[in-house]
Amino acid sequence: MTVKKNITINDSVSHLPYVNPKVEKLLHKLGVKTIYDLLTHSPSRYLDFSNIVKIEDVAIDQVCTIQGQIISVNNQRTWKRGFNITEAIVGDDTGRVKAVWFNQPFIAHRLRIGQFVSLSGKATIQNRELTFSHPAYETLGKNELAHTGMIVPIYPETAGMTSKWIRFLMKQALKYAEELPEILPPEIKVKEKFLSKKDAVKNLHFPPDMDAAKQAKKQLAFEELFLIQLIVLGLKKNIEKQKAPAIKADIDLVKNFLSRLPFQLTAGQKKSAWQIIQDMEKPHPMNRLLNGDVGSGKTIVAAIATLNATGRGYQVAYLAPTEILARQHFATFCRFLQPFNIHIALATGSENKIFEPELGDSYSIKKKDLIAEIAGEKIGIAIGTHTLLQEKVKFNNLGLVIIDEQHRFGVSQRATLLRSSALIPHLLSMTATPIPRTLMLTVFGDLDISILNEMPVGRKKIITKIISPKERKSAYEFTRQQIKEGRQAFIICPRIEQATSNEQLAISNGEIKAVKEEYKKLSEEIFPDLKVAMIHGKIKPKEKEKIMADFKDNKINILVSTSVIEVGIDIPNASIMMIEGADRFGLAQLHQFRGRVGRGEHQSFCFLMVDSDTKTEKDRLQAMVKTENGFELAEKDLEIRGPGEFIGTRQSGMADIAFAASADIFTLEKVRKYATELFAKDPALAKYPALKEKLNQIKQKTHFE
Ligand code: ADP
Ligand code: MG
Repeated sequence: MTVKKNITINDSVSHLPYVNPKVEKLLHKLGVKTIYDLLTHSPSRYLDFSNIVKIEDVAIDQVCTIQGQIISVNNQRTWKRGFNITEAIVGDDTGRVKAVWFNQPFIAHRLRIGQFVSLSGKATIQNRELTFSHPAYETLGKNELAHTGMIVPIYPETAGMTSKWIRFLMKQALKYAEELPEILPPEIKVKEKFLSKKDAVKNLHFPPDMDAAKQAKKQLAFEELFLIQLIVLGLKKNIEKQKAPAIKADIDLVKNFLSRLPFQLTAGQKKSAWQIIQDMEKPHPMNRLLNGDVGSGKTIVAAIATLNATGRGYQVAYLAPTEILARQHFATFCRFLQPFNIHIALATGSENKIFEPELGDSYSIKKKDLIAEIAGEKIGIAIGTHTLLQEKVKFNNLGLVIIDEQHRFGVSQRATLLRSSALIPHLLSMTATPIPRTLMLTVFGDLDISILNEMPVGRKKIITKIISPKERKSAYEFTRQQIKEGRQAFIICPRIEQATSNEQLAISNGEIKAVKEEYKKLSEEIFPDLKVAMIHGKIKPKEKEKIMADFKDNKINILVSTSVIEVGIDIPNASIMMIEGADRFGLAQLHQFRGRVGRGEHQSFCFLMVDSDTKTEKDRLQAMVKTENGFELAEKDLEIRGPGEFIGTRQSGMADIAFAASADIFTLEKVRKYATELFAKDPALAKYPALKEKLNQIKQKTHFE
């Protein structure tokens, strides 16, 4: 601990007692750098250990807390190497219980006979003894309780930094809560009956009851959304002030293009293309999001916008999140735009090419030479990955930037492409995550939105089924059958590793399916005769691309993946999407997974695997069975789960989003109203210095343009 006099909440956590460099590093891993960060490190949930009972009143299988004296402690190794059991007998004036911990020998060192302790957890009968398995514990003494006998916060953790540790540090940090600035305008706080920021933060971490915790989160979510909303309004106003090339619509050219397509545009495609073309005619930058389900035909709309810009002599940059997708788009563009005499460049980490329209073919070129071409007059369209954002890539006359699956790129990345130009290019971003209306008006309020709300004709409906544990076997059999017929399958699992925190073990033994385990099980036990591969966030990008390429070439039958499956990837031959622990995903995300299949001529299936038959979960998942409309599902999701999943997709651009994700629709609507009013009344925030300062901090942190 460094000695410093006036420590403020914006100082490093290292000023808190017990935060040595090692602890500090662990906190950094959780995104906690300052005391302020720690204070706003939000619990992901709470365990209600507030029910303190006498041992004789302990009810089996119900969470409670008992307090008593340690009668004996016993530490044992078992036959299994490295396996260790700690047992303690605790008694009060009404009875005795046994407490058992596995593989935590250090607990035995802490517990002393005669000590008074508090234990929280669920009791069961084991070998006819009342037993707490993995209870949370703390010694009773001069300190107030922090881990048992109350509502206990569970935080996002990292190895070596458990919730218990965080709670302990939080108690130290809360001494600085007094200094938390009151950001919200006082009139809003009064109207909404909000607490002081300090009290809200106290209730966030150590709430007197669950309702107080809920209220605290709500207030903090409100505050965050309010900030986001003001930033969004400011951004929008800013963009209107900037200058962009006014690209005159070339209706004949577009008509010519459309007449060559083997299909008719959907109504949504027509409308969107028209909105985009009109936007580009204006002398300030377009900032439009094209929002349409997987397969709704965004690429054609992008091609129309592109053709319109190149036809007027402007260059277009098209960013894709992966090499595979960049290559896919390159192929599509070369095919569709060939008659229009445009040179198209492909720039990725491993491949650089130019499409020569007169040849009708492309040739490889050195990276260095490609960059020189992009800076010259020849190239009309450059399609690529992050490579295109490199400092040395300079465009000659960039008029339009298209970003596919925009959430993969940070907000600041457009700024990179602007470097060389006096005028700011128009921006079209595209995403397949359907965004509910309420969010379009709030969190995404800086963007104009075009929607593709219908699928091109002739798409086969994907058959969706909820699969209970007893139907699992037949789902596997069905999958095997499909693979025999030449098809392929995706299997999605919720997480990579098992959850191991004590508190979690204390009350739930629900297992979280791990990809690695699932892969082992599938490849060794269930489909030993098939080619099963695994893909997850910890696999290197190169290797990942190789696996995806093999899957595309049908060298792999089944691909087991975490939820971070490659976006937008097109595997028309895959007909099965099996989602493990489907009840843990939001509808919008399940819908995204489902969109990976049904992309070819084959009837496709989506299996939602559930571990139990909970009724409410089944009701929620029924929505997936009933509708294929991503927007409907997204609206439902927003209602049930809040905006977390949608806001998450913008996270790269916005700092400090910890609470907004838990807001509800009503809060969103309310925030929008308040922020719009305030912005209209006092856009410079002259009367709200604390709010203004906070906004400036956020802007600096996130490099908004
Ligand atoms: P996404 O919106 O997921 O990017 P794509 O643009 O890749 O979708 O389009 C999916 C497929 O649908 C492509 O093969 C495309 O050629 C085709 N497609 C696009 N629009 C239409 C349409 N109006 N009618 C028929 N097929 C279409
Ligand atoms: Mg696409």
